[in-house]
Amino acid sequence: MPKKIPMRQCVGCREMKPKKELIRVVRSPEGVVSLDFKGKLPGRGAYVCPDPACLAKARKSKGLERAFSAPLPNEVWEALEAQMKEVPPDAQ
Ligand SMILES: [Zn+2]
Repeated sequence: MPKKIPMRQCVGCREMKPKKELIRVVRSPEGVVSLDFKGKLPGRGAYVCPDPACLAKARKSKGLERAFSAPLPNEVWEALEAQMKEVPPDAQ
């Protein structure tokens, strides 16, 4: 693999994957957590595969809480799950 490709670890399955194959999850300076399909939102970011199963794993393992050093309430998880279902096909 060419070393120019930036790799990131999925907070769900913990696999290293090219950044552009993952969805960035961002926690804004205001503490709002959302999916960042374009990778441009300010704040602290983590990465997850575009796969609801990985989101579920991250929820179970608290991978995202660790990445953000903040608790994620249920409604945030539900919002992330809903947003993941709406991933535009051309976003990756
Ligand atoms: Zn994954």
